[in-house]
Amino acid sequence: MKTAHREAPPRYVIAEIRHLLAKSGCPLCHAEAEALERFLFWFFHESYGEPEIVLQYVRSRGFCAEHLKLVAERGPQWQVSAMFSWIIEDLLTALRTSLAAVAEKRPLRFRSWRKGATRVVEPTAGCLFCDVIERTQESLIPMLLEALEYDETLRARFVEVGGCCVPHALLVARSARGEQQRGLLLVLEVLQKQLESTKHDLDEFFRKADYRYAHEPRGAEQHAWRRALVQFGYKSDRESPTQRQTSQEQGAHCPPRKRG
Ligand SMILES: [Zn+2]
Ligand SMILES: [Zn+2]
Repeated sequence: MKTAHREAPPRYVIAEIRHLLAKSGCPLCHAEAEALERFLFWFFHESYGEPEIVLQYVRSRGFCAEHLKLVAERGPQWQVSAMFSWIIEDLLTALRTSLAAVAEKRPLRFRSWRKGATRVVEPTAGCLFCDVIERTQESLIPMLLEALEYDETLRARFVEVGGCCVPHALLVARSARGEQQRGLLLVLEVLQKQLESTKHDLDEFFRKADYRYAHEPRGAEQHAWRRALVQFGYKSDRESPTQRQTSQEQGAHCPPRKRG
């Protein structure tokens, strides 16, 4: 069984990982950003109104805080109005039903009364956009590990781009299987090297803040705090518009296939 995995990964795996390693920074962060852009392209154009999609964001009572921000910043007026009209309509129906049932009841036990009043209001589905991210991770992490296990060029490129951010490296570690040990080892080694470099620069920042060394010229250590934030998964708002535009253009030329 094990020898079967010693073969080179399929060409589409190599092509996909090579694409994600084309620019510097965490390849899985790039994959998520691109998947979200592709999804948004269809979402705001048409799928926001498809019954299956509507059902999910109605049942999730909207979106998680991060993706609500995305909807607020990117959503066109008509689509956002329609979406919240359906979300609110369903929430109001649930509230009317539960309040009619409990309003007259004297609460013998507050906890059970509260449960009766709010049970139907609670979300019963996850955030639609978080699901897109999760599906991307599920498909891309095994591909990344497979490529890093066997392809020397991609291993070298992975080192060059600085590997994965901390949250993604940990996610990769949790997903890795026995035959991907070499790939996982590389992910962890690059992470260690990157963190050591940032720690060195942070120490350097504090050293130069000391009046005895304050005359020394400032360098890369001045940006170490920003690098640390990105390493721990922060997506810079200042970077994203260009990235978004590029991805959106790519999406416009090569629209993804709709699911379902
Ligand atoms: Zn990442
Ligand atoms: Zn979300």
